[in-house]
Amino acid sequence: MELIKNWGVGKNITSKENFCPKCNNRGRVKVVRECDREKFDREFDRLDAPGTMEMYLIYDKAIEGCQYDYHYCPDCEEGQKYKNEYPVYDGI
Ligand SMILES: [Zn+2]
Repeated sequence: MELIKNWGVGKNITSKENFCPKCNNRGRVKVVRECDREKFDREFDRLDAPGTMEMYLIYDKAIEGCQYDYHYCPDCEEGQKYKNEYPVYDGI
């Protein structure tokens, strides 16, 4: 599979082909540690309840107070920069 090119960030994204939804063009993904999984789920549900925030923002906010590890994104070029630093991200 060809890697997604992470051209542009935020509002500057030129097209869908250049955007990686897995890591939001960041190349790495925060993964909550098992010990904080419940805390994270609760916080996520709480923030998600009003239905006004975007999923990735909720994720970012919910994970803030938790312990987490970075995993690198295998789908895009940005992720390749972190290949030797972190384990591979195998979520969706
Ligand atoms: Zn990616």
